[in-house]
Amino acid sequence: LTFADFGLAPEIQRALTDQGYTHPTPIQEQAIPVVLQGRDVMGAAQTGTGKTAGFSLPIIQLLMAHASSSMSPARHPVRALILTPTRELAVQVAENVKAYAKHTPLRSTVVFGGMDMKPQTVILRGGVEIVIATPGRLLDHIEQKNISLSQVQMLVMDEADRMLDMGFLPDLQRIINLLPKQRQNLMFSATFSPEIKKLAATFLNDPLTIEV
Ligand code: AMP
Repeated sequence: LTFADFGLAPEIQRALTDQGYTHPTPIQEQAIPVVLQGRDVMGAAQTGTGKTAGFSLPIIQLLMAHASSSMSPARHPVRALILTPTRELAVQVAENVKAYAKHTPLRSTVVFGGMDMKPQTVILRGGVEIVIATPGRLLDHIEQKNISLSQVQMLVMDEADRMLDMGFLPDLQRIINLLPKQRQNLMFSATFSPEIKKLAATFLNDPLTIEV
């Protein structure tokens, strides 16, 4: 199996060649077709398995189907939201997304706490399709009306077990309440605790479970 078998856009395949990726990892083999079908996913995967590309590549593919090359911010509403527990993971995921989307018109950015809000605000207000965020800082930007989540079609909760450990459940609930009901949900977790299963049952719609 190669990346070409997923039917990804040439712009994405070119980025994978740039990255030096030749073959999908096991989690990517499982996740990419299922996400492309529009299904919700509960993925049990540790960091290092290639899970980031496993959700990012199909998200980019699905968003590209309706990408706008217009410069107007109004034409670039947030359509995919990726939540992570820490700034380190947020930055890492954002770097991956940028690399995979670099030949597409899609825009992405990262927002996290402990940093001046102004530069993040300027970028958010300019319009971005993909936002990678830690929950607390995202809520700050929502309160200041720097970002609208009304057009979000895809939600990713990455390292969901760590988000629960860090006490982000109330923040997650507040954020999810602001999303359109009709959307695709992807959740990744290294562990499958009863708490994670409960979170999955609350937020995922008929999810396919994948494990590597
Ligand atoms: P992740 O588990 O998403 O943090 O990915 C772990 C590392 O594997 C990252 O440095 C990725 O750039 C790299 N990677 C992801 N997918 C592939 C692939 N299909 N081939 C080679 N390297 C990959």
